[in-house]
Amino acid sequence: MRMKIFAVLICIVGWGGPQIVVRADREPSATSRVADAIHPSAPDRVGGILGQRLDLWRRIRLWRVVKDPFLLDGFLHPPGTHAWQGEHVGKWLHAASLACGATGDAKLDGALRAVVAKLIAAQEDNGYLGTYAPKERFYAKVATGDPKSWDVWTERYAIYGLLSYCKLHDDPAALQACEEAGDLLLKTVGPPSGDVTRFGNHQGISAAVLLESIVMLYQQTGDARYLDFAKHIVHSIESNPDLRIAAAMRAGEDVTVSGHGKAYQLMAVLLGYVDLYRATGEKQYLETAVTAWERILAAHVNVAGGPWGYQVKSYTNQECFAPPQYFHPTNCVETCSTTTWIQLCLSLFDLTGEARYADAAEVSIFNQLMGAQSPNGKDWAYHSMLNMPNRGYDDAITCCASSGPRALELYARHLICEANDRLVVNSYVPGVAPLDGASGLSGHIVVQGRYPFAPECTMRLELRAPATFAVDFRLPAGATAMEMKINDTRQEPVRTESGFFRVQREWKPGDRVSLKFDFPLRARFQTASDGVRWVAFSWGPLALAQSLVKQTDEPQNVLIIEQESEDGSLWLTPERAAGNSPAPSADAIEELDTNAAATADAATAAVPSWRLKTPRKVIMVPYFMAGANGGGVRTMFPTRRTPL
Ligand SMILES: [Zn+2]
Repeated sequence: MRMKIFAVLICIVGWGGPQIVVRADREPSATSRVADAIHPSAPDRVGGILGQRLDLWRRIRLWRVVKDPFLLDGFLHPPGTHAWQGEHVGKWLHAASLACGATGDAKLDGALRAVVAKLIAAQEDNGYLGTYAPKERFYAKVATGDPKSWDVWTERYAIYGLLSYCKLHDDPAALQACEEAGDLLLKTVGPPSGDVTRFGNHQGISAAVLLESIVMLYQQTGDARYLDFAKHIVHSIESNPDLRIAAAMRAGEDVTVSGHGKAYQLMAVLLGYVDLYRATGEKQYLETAVTAWERILAAHVNVAGGPWGYQVKSYTNQECFAPPQYFHPTNCVETCSTTTWIQLCLSLFDLTGEARYADAAEVSIFNQLMGAQSPNGKDWAYHSMLNMPNRGYDDAITCCASSGPRALELYARHLICEANDRLVVNSYVPGVAPLDGASGLSGHIVVQGRYPFAPECTMRLELRAPATFAVDFRLPAGATAMEMKINDTRQEPVRTESGFFRVQREWKPGDRVSLKFDFPLRARFQTASDGVRWVAFSWGPLALAQSLVKQTDEPQNVLIIEQESEDGSLWLTPERAAGNSPAPSADAIEELDTNAAATADAATAAVPSWRLKTPRKVIMVPYFMAGANGGGVRTMFPTRRTPL
């Protein structure tokens, strides 16, 4: 059974680009028991630092990857040369399809079609869509399983990428390829007795990530066999005593337990649980994901929004969630984990409309994620730390470099969103967003300013006609207050249950909203695994860090603390203020060490910075910019109490 389940919208996107058919992000109602609260959509334009970073990926990294034979060689001439080589084309198709939908780039559209055609042509007659030699394939090993194999993982990403492309283009051939791959998996590890967790490392969690792709397949085909398959995968997970994610969450266990706490995979499986809740309305799936999300946020995310890991036991590795006492500023954050954390936050935000999920995504995108992207547009970091001697940017095609752009593209579709009965302003990044969706509004909204480098913005509603509706504004992560004026008249918005600030009125074409946020400097103290009290500083959603050309050139400063306080202004003083941006001192410019800050773009030319009061020489800049020239970054400082 194949159902036509998406509304197809004709959108004119980008500048000077051709018209292409773009599907709406909205969930297909035929396969959703639960409707999303939020409908993300691609803005017409993204400016500021996020726009710069999107542009770097779209102009440089995207093409560097698609021109590399490594992307498809494993499929065209199996076996591939690397165990998870096959994931990259799926990840590229996901990110590039979102980019194409946002820009309408005809050249990219052609590249997408060519990659999809080659990938589909490489599919075996039995539906296999991978890079392994025949004897090593998952269906050849069904009798024994194979915990070392990444073959199911590859299938998961091939299906994921093709289905992402199918959201851009209604392509029966691509959808059929996914169904054939899904059918082979269903036959091998589906009901009644198949067990996908017998494949993949970390107790099978690396194969259990298949769940999300199978729910997507159900959503796009309406074929109930895939829904049954997805439920069966959950049954396999919950029957596996080393995984049992829902049972572990119900029992109050931490996210360090299931699948060795492998962060990236665990969160990828949770994405599947959220989607399965959408498809079935069965609450245990959502409760599992929300409980895990809350535990991750409470104890496993650093000040930069990075889900950190640490190798506690021989069978775990540095990418596994670890008990909080193992925290250290040098602990590793895998960029795949950061990306998947952002995906999980945004998926829960779409579903529930709750601001807390958007807050967490904002911290992660502006700090950990963008810190992993080199401002040269080509390189990405695999592992990032709060304190590291070198950013570790690399041009290679790695899991992490393939994941990161997906987070950028997904986040860019969540800046200004429409809900069924209102507009939801989730970000104040400058740009232009269309109003033409579910709320019935018509026109554009224009956002100006230098957010997040300045704690303010102005918005102009270019409506085609007056309309009465509600607009929800999110208080930025790390902000304590918002001052709002509409057409120069002070407003007092009402706090909603979901954590937004709502204004309901008759809006007229040209109405202007001016917003000023209070971004306090915050100090965050934490005892690390070395027993030392470390401190990090943040300002609004931005974590701050010292940029180091060579960490060994700069001795680590110990901060003398009389009394701990959340008030970061006790230790930091503005060097280059946000907003009015006085000229920085010469030594501050010298120490900024950021390519991005040196660009001529007006939106980012004046990056705020701070100076430690003691020692005075230490300049703090946004974490993601520190060390961006390939130097080191120091986000946390050891502290010592004043001798009595
Ligand atoms: Zn990775």
